[in-house]
Amino acid sequence: MSLNVTLNNGVEMPALGFGVFQTPPEQTVNAVTEALRTGYRLIDTAASYFNEREVGEGIRRSGLDRAEVFIETKVWISDYGYDETLHAFGKSAGKLGVDQIDLLLLHQAVPTDFDRTVDAYRALESLLAAGRVRAVGVSNFMPDHLATLRKRTSIVPAVNQIEVHPYFTQSDVQQAGADLGIRTQAWSPMGGITSYRGTGTSTFDDPTVTAIAADTGKSPAQVMLRWHLQEGRSAIPKSVNPQRIAANFDVFDFELTPDQLAALDALDTGVRRGPEPETVTREAFWRDIPEA
Ligand code: NDP
Repeated sequence: MSLNVTLNNGVEMPALGFGVFQTPPEQTVNAVTEALRTGYRLIDTAASYFNEREVGEGIRRSGLDRAEVFIETKVWISDYGYDETLHAFGKSAGKLGVDQIDLLLLHQAVPTDFDRTVDAYRALESLLAAGRVRAVGVSNFMPDHLATLRKRTSIVPAVNQIEVHPYFTQSDVQQAGADLGIRTQAWSPMGGITSYRGTGTSTFDDPTVTAIAADTGKSPAQVMLRWHLQEGRSAIPKSVNPQRIAANFDVFDFELTPDQLAALDALDTGVRRGPEPETVTREAFWRDIPEA
């Protein structure tokens, strides 16, 4: 299995990356250097995670060349609008300490103010044309958001980063993306959100997942990450624990069977754990993103 996927504009992106949502700034430098030491080459952060500065520091401390690491971040909705989003790029690049960002996403659609969302995306298109970013994309966009964006803008998003784990697969959103040439990237790829924000069984303890783990001699986390990769998705697991950071990258030495993939697909409950994208408004989700 290839370690990279090719985005719709030809840019190569590591399929398996490393996430830092909820990683406190004081733990982020170590988590990122540990991940890069392990072999991850994609780091996913966001302006609204308030740890971009530490992500940049972790990358510099790793000793790797800038070109060896694929940096992905997201513009928060408080910074939407053409000029505001251009400025948001500057804030993120400044905190990360880089001139160019590999993949810049809009973090959410704002359905009640889609004009502003479109303006934000047009800023991403300008940044792409100017070479300040290598690829642009979206996150948490539903099929109708993707369709409207396509009608009103020129560049097809390279990526739609959405909640995908065995308990919530959003196959309709994945299909809508695939039809447009958009790569799905799974957030909460191991279903971490079913554990830290869930009630009842978490994906890590699911009987089907643990049975496949026992059959393959791998852990539930490794089984879920392999499932994404074999189904063509990028995935960005998060951990602050060195053993788990390493284990989550050790997924290239086994193969799930078609039956095992189908059994994991069949666990979908249709229940979303993250925010309902249709209800996101700038007022309710406002966050001030500091200057660099
Ligand atoms: P994950 O599926 O990555 O799960 C992370 C959770 O599981 C953490 O609590 C972690 O704890 C724990 N964990 C990590 N590895 C293992 C393991 N091997 N066995 C058991 N437990 C484990 O979910 P996240 O929600 O953290 O999502 C991952 C990334 O996706 C984020 O960091 C972020 O980059 C992105 N994301 C994007 C969103 C968006 O709206 N675009 C929303 C949410 C996430 P510990 O750290 O202690 O190991």
